[in-house]
Amino acid sequence: MPDWRTLHLDDRIFSEPTADGHSLALWFPGKRDEAFQHWERVSTVPHTEFTVEPGITAVAAASVQAKQPIRGFFGKFLQRFQKPTEGRAWLLPTGDTAEQCGERRSDLILLWVEDKPKQLDEPWIKARWPECERSQKIGENLYLVFGIVPPTVSSTLEQAQASPRQTAERLLADARATGDRRREVSALTDLGITYLHEGSAQLALRSLDEALRNIRLLDERSEEGEIMGNLGLAVLRTGQPKPAMALLEQALTHARAANDQFAMKVSLERLGFAYAILRNPSRSLASFEEALSLARALADIRHEAELLWYLAIQHAEIGRREQAIASAQAAVEVMEKARNPQAAWYAQHLRRFRAGDSGIGLSTNEEAGPDSSPIAFLTSSLTASLWATPPAGMQGPAPPAGPGLLRMAVSAAKSMAKFLGSGLKTVPAATLQRRLRTCAACHHHTGLRCRLCGCFTNAKARIAHEQCPIAKWPE
Ligand code: SF4
Repeated sequence: MPDWRTLHLDDRIFSEPTADGHSLALWFPGKRDEAFQHWERVSTVPHTEFTVEPGITAVAAASVQAKQPIRGFFGKFLQRFQKPTEGRAWLLPTGDTAEQCGERRSDLILLWVEDKPKQLDEPWIKARWPECERSQKIGENLYLVFGIVPPTVSSTLEQAQASPRQTAERLLADARATGDRRREVSALTDLGITYLHEGSAQLALRSLDEALRNIRLLDERSEEGEIMGNLGLAVLRTGQPKPAMALLEQALTHARAANDQFAMKVSLERLGFAYAILRNPSRSLASFEEALSLARALADIRHEAELLWYLAIQHAEIGRREQAIASAQAAVEVMEKARNPQAAWYAQHLRRFRAGDSGIGLSTNEEAGPDSSPIAFLTSSLTASLWATPPAGMQGPAPPAGPGLLRMAVSAAKSMAKFLGSGLKTVPAATLQRRLRTCAACHHHTGLRCRLCGCFTNAKARIAHEQCPIAKWPE
């Protein structure tokens, strides 16, 4: 939070002194009639900051209306002997008192710029919050926006306690109860993805198919490509490669048409995975390579490391041992640079691969059983979780040696979560709240998942080394 004591406010606005300088209360003079001077008091709500986008921050605010009786000299003198008013009395910055009138409203946010080159103006605010009632400039790059419900801490923290599937089911029930078709499509997609993570391909298929049919009834269909990509994975899981590849290709076409680099990267990764399990390593390598270039261009180091590892698996599959080792080593180095504790897990598998060892003695998901805990979802991306068991009828389980050893590293989510144990450094509560609140206010957030990185934000936000793919989280 900036220090409000040093802010340059509009001359007509009075600020109320606060003890710590980290909260703000402002008085706005309103209309004046024969009997009263009207005022509006706006105060920030402590610990509710969130990032709207990199460099632009907001905090929840509340306002009350008050009226100050207009009195002459004798009126002011006699005021001392009058009975106190029934409403709450406020002390104005002028030293006079005013009586609260009307209800408190809490649908305001205060918005400011942290990075100087950025500028705020009313058209930008209106484009960002088309539903807002109005906005008011109150200082240099400082605006009050009325009619916005700020992201709430309680709901985001409640969500953080629940499993991803519980949250997806709740979001779906809420959307159906309110008849909101767009939110219903989003929740069906989330639910399908959680089923995919859990290995329930038929249930995933049902949810994602319903999401696809429903979105085609809406005017705005920007999420159609995303649904097709996930449906492609579900179809692939059920052992139908041809319709699966058609869906994955269509998802990529959608992403390219929208020039959405995040979606292109994800589609290419999935195609790479599909070609890999269909035993087409050259096309798999080409897809992973293109996805890797996009991950680097977007500075998405988490995905960069994953893609380098997938390239290593593919090189190993076709006997290019040296390239496999180089790629896997690069993946470990990227993880180490990002202070990702998973680096140790991958390094352990790479060591055994280099030594020509077998994977005997390393634990796998098959031994550990399915895991739907948030940490397992975090330590294993959707594609990673699919490496564990190849789709029905396509190929046998990977041997626990050679390329199989590299596959095991990505597929054993539960074992990895156990292996990492307390090695996953978590963030302090205040940082977690700000991250969750920032996600809750972000238009890339589905209510459960970040559409850009695909992560379940309730798990990801807790982990210190994790980052927002577009740098909205505070450092
Ligand atoms: S992690 Fe995703 S949902 Fe959260 S703020 Fe960043 S872009 Fe938005």
